[in-house]
Amino acid sequence: MISLKNAAEMDCMRDACRISAQALRLAGSLVRPGVTTAAIDRQVEEFIRSQGAVPSFLHYNGFPASTCISINNEVIHGIPSHSRVIHEGDIVSVDVGAVYRGFNGDNAATFPAGQISDEAQRLMDATKKALYAGIEKAQAGLRIGDISAAVQAVVEGAGFDVVTSYVGHGVGADMHEEPEVPNFGKAGHGPRLCAGMTIAIEPMVNAKGRAVKVLQNGWTVVTRTGSLSAHFEHTVAITPDGPEILTVAGEDGRL
Ligand code: MG
Repeated sequence: MISLKNAAEMDCMRDACRISAQALRLAGSLVRPGVTTAAIDRQVEEFIRSQGAVPSFLHYNGFPASTCISINNEVIHGIPSHSRVIHEGDIVSVDVGAVYRGFNGDNAATFPAGQISDEAQRLMDATKKALYAGIEKAQAGLRIGDISAAVQAVVEGAGFDVVTSYVGHGVGADMHEEPEVPNFGKAGHGPRLCAGMTIAIEPMVNAKGRAVKVLQNGWTVVTRTGSLSAHFEHTVAITPDGPEILTVAGEDGRL
C-alpha cells in the first residue's frame, strides 16, 4: 500500500530529510585523497546523532555502518572501512539517511576526489541530470513510469546504462515503502502519483553495461564489467503545487 502523508507528517519528513541532506553535504566535504571511508562514516554518524536523529542505515538488515560509501566500480552498499583509503581520481558515492521523529530521509550523491577523468565527470553529470529529469515528472496525475522513462532517456542519451536490479522507492515511516521507482520504464505506465506521496528517486548509472554483482561481503554491489558507476538520490514529495525536493540542506526545495 502506498502511504500518503498529511501536513503534519510532511513537516516531519522535511525535518528528517533536512538532517539527511546536511549529513550528505558533510560527507561530501570530507571526500578527499588520503581519507578513509570509516572516518567519513564516523563524522556523519556523530552529526546525525547531534541533531537528535538516528542513522537509518545502521543495523538495517544487519548493515554495519551509518553510510554506504561506494568507490569507482562500486554501485551501492559499499561498507565504510578503516582500511579503505580514498585516492586521487576516485569517484565516491555516499548514501545516507536519518530517521527523526519517526520519519526517514534518504539521499545520495557521487563526489570527486581531487582531479577525476573526463569520463567520470560526464558520468556524474549525466546521473545528476537524470535525477532532476525524473524529479520534474514527480507530479500529481502522472505515473511512476513517467519518472522512470525520463531518467532512462537522459542516461541512455548520454551513452551510459541504468542499473535495473535496484530501484528507488517510497519513503516515510519506513525507509523502503511502496511504490518501487525504477530507473527504466515506459511513460504512462505504473502507479499514479498523487499529492502526499513521498518517494526516493535514485538513478544508479554504469559507464558500461547494466549488469552488476554482489561481493562476498554480502552487501557491496559492483559493476560486472568493472566500469565506473555513479548514484544521485533525493527524497521528493508530490504536492498540489508540483514536486518538492525534501532532501535540501537549507534552501527551499520547490522546483
Ligand atoms: Mg534510497
